[in-house]
Amino acid sequence: MEFELIDLIRERCAVTRVDVRLGIGDDAAILSPPAGHDLVVCTDTLIAGVHFPESTSARDLGWKALAVNLSDLAAMGATPAWALLALTLPNADRTFVAAFCDGFAELATQHHVALVGGDTTRGPLSVTVAVHGFAPPGRALRRDGAQVGDQVFVTGTLGDAAAGLRCLDPRDAHAGVLFNASGDTREWLLARLNRPTPRIAAGVALRDRASACIDVSDGLLADLEHVAARSGVAIEIDAIDLPASSALLALFDAPQRLALQTGGGDDYELAFTAPRQRADAMLRDLARIGGGATRIGRVMAGEGVRLLDADGSEIAVHQRGWQHFA
Ligand code: ADP
Ligand code: MG
Repeated sequence: MEFELIDLIRERCAVTRVDVRLGIGDDAAILSPPAGHDLVVCTDTLIAGVHFPESTSARDLGWKALAVNLSDLAAMGATPAWALLALTLPNADRTFVAAFCDGFAELATQHHVALVGGDTTRGPLSVTVAVHGFAPPGRALRRDGAQVGDQVFVTGTLGDAAAGLRCLDPRDAHAGVLFNASGDTREWLLARLNRPTPRIAAGVALRDRASACIDVSDGLLADLEHVAARSGVAIEIDAIDLPASSALLALFDAPQRLALQTGGGDDYELAFTAPRQRADAMLRDLARIGGGATRIGRVMAGEGVRLLDADGSEIAVHQRGWQHFA
């Protein structure tokens, strides 16, 4: 039964690449990385009820499991190539696996990612994906390169996925407004939650330009704390400059918006730093790629992340993103 599932997965996730010498079916895959490139690898697990609502469709889950991993490669400025998929399922549900693979394959096809192996086990629903990508030697982006005097930027818009999560919560104080929002607005926010866009092209464009980069998965301020700590700098963010989608602007007042933009998880946008003199050309290129980017702050001497009001005074933040296992 497990082998039937593996056959199904192989059929449905059928991106092929010449650098896969041997894919699904043996004890391990044999892969042939391009000569002279760095191999960039990462893995992420999604557990039902912890990292995604139990109500998430199998198809969306397949997309998201790959998307969150590709987002990590994007943050490194790497070009994705191969994926592994470890699936733990309560039962051998072919319909579920078929739909999961369709969502996974849809995104894998967009980025030409070959599924080369994995593991299939029985247990509470959980999905682990590992991805492998390439970067020119020494040119992958990192968290530790931010310099005093750099500016801070973020791609796309912030807080939409967290707003989408609130659309699903019937106990939410805001649910009246959210449920009355137009179907299109709700659908758009839910798509931002369930089908995040990994910013692969933006990551590649930021090689040799950004001094540090991270993908926003736990919440903007929480993730920028990692950049500040690894780089040994302080970061100041101007609340007024944080990008908001028209859906967020339509449904939330300014304080709620700010909480979603600074503390909401699951955005999968790229937050990065770059020297001021590179900023204009870089922003033009990112706008051309799609999604664009916005200047949101600056790198200073010191430590930690501070959120500033329009008059430059610090705003206290209560919820700095999601704390796993807090
Ligand atoms: P082994 O017992 O040697 O680990 P498995 O029976 O677990 O082998 O897997 C057989 C083949 O199917 C391997 O090539 C493995 O990588 C692949 N595979 C198993 N599960 C998955 C999955 N969920 N997605 C992709 N490939 C899988
Ligand atoms: Mg195995």
